[in-house]
Parts: sequence; C-alpha cells; structure tokens
Amino acid sequence: MKRFIRPLLYTLVIVIGLLSLGVYKYSPYLLMELHASRHTPPPIDPKMSEEDYWTIKDLGNSVYAIGELSWYQKNWHYLIVGEEKAVLFDSGTGRYPIRNTVEKLTDKPIIAIPSHLHYDHVGNLSEFEDVRIIDLLSVRKLADENTLHLSRYAHLGFIDRLDIEPIKIHKWVMDLGKIDIGGRELSITSIPGHTDDSIALYDPLGNYLFTGDTIYKGAIMTMLPGSSRSDYVRSMKKLINLYGARRPTLLGGHSREADGDQVPSMDWGLVNLLNSKIKRAESDKTLYQGTLPRVLSISDEVEFYTGFEWSNK
Ligand SMILES: [Zn+2]
Repeated sequence: MKRFIRPLLYTLVIVIGLLSLGVYKYSPYLLMELHASRHTPPPIDPKMSEEDYWTIKDLGNSVYAIGELSWYQKNWHYLIVGEEKAVLFDSGTGRYPIRNTVEKLTDKPIIAIPSHLHYDHVGNLSEFEDVRIIDLLSVRKLADENTLHLSRYAHLGFIDRLDIEPIKIHKWVMDLGKIDIGGRELSITSIPGHTDDSIALYDPLGNYLFTGDTIYKGAIMTMLPGSSRSDYVRSMKKLINLYGARRPTLLGGHSREADGDQVPSMDWGLVNLLNSKIKRAESDKTLYQGTLPRVLSISDEVEFYTGFEWSNK
C-alpha cells in the first residue's frame, strides 16, 4: 500500500499544478462564462419609440453623440458629418435599429466603423453598406473573404444572449490611416489593450478623440479575453506621442448611471493619468485592490480593472 502513496501524491500535485495554471491562463474566459451564467439581461419595452430609445446630443462642429441610455450599459455612439460623407463610430448593441435615427441627422452617405468588435459596438452594422474594419492579422483570421465571423470570445454577445451576426466588410482600414469625409479628415489609431482590435478616431476639426471602450467614464476593462495590460500602457504612450501636443477632448463609449444623460466627455489629462498610474502600479502591486479583478483607482470617475498578473499581461 505504502508504495502507492508517493506516486499518488505526485500525481495529485501535478493535477493541482495544471489546474491552477489553467485557471491563471484561462481566467478571462472563465470569468466571462461565470458572469454570463449569473447575468440576466434586462428586457427592453418592444413598444419603445425611437425618440425614447436614443438620446441625441449635438456637440457642435457637426458632431452628434447618440446615447443608448435605455440599455443598462449606457453606450454612446458618435456621428461625425463632413461635406461629402459621415462617419458613425460604433453602431449600438443591435437591440434597436439606429440607421433611421442617424439619417434624421444627416443625408450624407454613412461609413460605419466600430471602435472594437465587442457585441455592444457592432450591433446594427448590417444596416449599413459601407462598413470599415481595422486591418490586423488577428481580425483577418476571423474573416472569410470580406465577411467577418466573430468568435464567441471576440464578440462576447453570449453575456446578453445575443447571437453573432456575420459582418460584411466594405473596406479594411489601416493603423494611422485617414478617412476623408469632405473638408474633414479623420485619423484611425490602433490602440490594443481592452481588445487587440480597439481603435481611436481623431477629428481635427472638433479636436475630438473618440476612444470607445479604451477610455470612458466608469470601469475600464483589461481583464477580458484578448485584453492586455502591457498593450494598454503602450497604447496610452502612442496616443500621447500622436496627440499630446493637441490635447483633444476624449469622447468615450460608455457613461455611468451617475452621469444621467451627460455625454462621457473627458479632459486629455486622463490619458497621462492612465499612463502614469498603470505604469506605477506595475512596480507597486499594492496600489491594486482585490484579486480578480484587480482594481486601480485612476480618478473620481475612472477605475482600471485588470486580471491576474500573469493573465491579460
Ligand atoms: Zn468592449
């Protein structure tokens, strides 16, 4: 009997070791599955009018913020109108069509670009003919010809019981590429971190930087499948190098309950704060609170959520 104890102990240690390693490595996936199993998306009143569903804010300079405030995630999408075309940056959760609302604001042909490929930013893309997506190897891998078939963890719609719809791509856009919409040239910047396909859009006319889920008011997430904390810091540095001298106003993809119907508009200083505070926390881990997620306070309005030290690195 005694001769079995030692091999049994060794096997147990190996199994526990492998399991811990698995939890560490796959914690972003396990976390999402756990969250989805406990979460019931709130119902939407099917008789809700378009005017009740969408909140429109005219920001001046032919820029409109379109809030999806009747939905619990408090999403914000942005319409930037040029002399010839208009860009819709993020198109909603897909719970309610958006095109009709957008066409009340502009009669120009619409180019739809998502800030990244999570389900709450790519809904309603099928309403538009001209859809443009960032050209990255990781995204190309999900595309067959010019149709994008998002994976379960690139889309994350299972959290809110939403199906994955194929996305027809009209054009691929490059990092640091420009889109001329007539008298207005918008710039694309790849800013991985929240997801590897995240982008920011810069509008020189209004001096706005649209930041999607990379920077918004509330809990910024880098603990999801495809998130990377070190990429996030590099992206902050990239934004500082590109736009630090111009200090654009940041317009984010979500607001908090406490913000009411206020557009999530933030001062440029927040980028410097994110960059310096996350970098400092890399050498002083005690600045983080909690285990999974680990939470770093950035300002009164913003927290930075990340995973284990080894996952989402
Ligand atoms: Zn997201």
